[in-house]
Amino acid sequence: MKKATEPDSIYAHNALRQISHEQKRWGLHGFSISGLSTYFQIPELDLCVDMGECPISALSLNHILLTHSHGDHSRCLMRHNSLRRMMQNPVQAAYYIPNAVYELAIEMIKAETLFEGVAEERFDLPRLECVKAGQWFDLAYRKDLEVFPFDVKHSIPSLGYTIFCKKKKLKKEYAKCAREEIISLKNSGVEITNDIREPFVSFMGDCIGESLWEERHIWNSPVVVCECTFLDKGEMEMASRKGHTHIDDLVQVLCKVGSSIPCQSIILTHFSMKYSKSHILETVSKVIPNEFKDKVRIFL
Ligand SMILES: [Zn+2]
Ligand SMILES: [Zn+2]
Repeated sequence: MKKATEPDSIYAHNALRQISHEQKRWGLHGFSISGLSTYFQIPELDLCVDMGECPISALSLNHILLTHSHGDHSRCLMRHNSLRRMMQNPVQAAYYIPNAVYELAIEMIKAETLFEGVAEERFDLPRLECVKAGQWFDLAYRKDLEVFPFDVKHSIPSLGYTIFCKKKKLKKEYAKCAREEIISLKNSGVEITNDIREPFVSFMGDCIGESLWEERHIWNSPVVVCECTFLDKGEMEMASRKGHTHIDDLVQVLCKVGSSIPCQSIILTHFSMKYSKSHILETVSKVIPNEFKDKVRIFL
């Protein structure tokens, strides 16, 4: 058996040692290995997705989107809340909880608080927001960001999220106007812009490969973070049975739409704990067709 300190050992996975992927103007930080822990942080968006661990770096972030209630994604939700209270953060973080587990989340939070010895009359619920698939919402403290939640297929109810930036775009009829003309129209009260939304990043959460095709609006995002739990030949059936994506599912979708999608970067996450780092790198490099290799990145 390889020693835990050897980087290629499965025992080398350390959920508190964060991975960072820098994009053009922002960074994705966190960790994601199936069954062990998944959490992502985007400080530029004041946002976390899932909370399988709660490192100190997550404490300043005010919005937490939960994809589903499996423990490796949800375990530290309330640790985030209690650490912030302990540090006397005056802002109530907003926890976005899928509708399917919203009521259970309230019970769980209450039980956890009582378990820690807090008297029932002192219990007060953190700011929880109930999320339903298809119902857009603004982030509580970032009105320039809007979120589209959508159902994905997993072994339990699970949501994916696309984060959109809200922007003003000059109306077509004014596109050819000189700058001075536009300023004077604006000053005279004419509405010269339309409100638009631009996709920023999509998170698939845990899901079978079918969701990559059924929810193909995700590919309009410049960055897609998707799970890729299984890699090996002969594991397709198991991936589907366990509610996860096999890399061949992704390859099939890329072969259908990959050359026509706006998506620039596909970040693969949530690999099975049983694979070593070198096996993941080798297999992804072997299986992803050459034309898409520069799009695909590995969150390790
Ligand atoms: Zn998972
Ligand atoms: Zn799961």
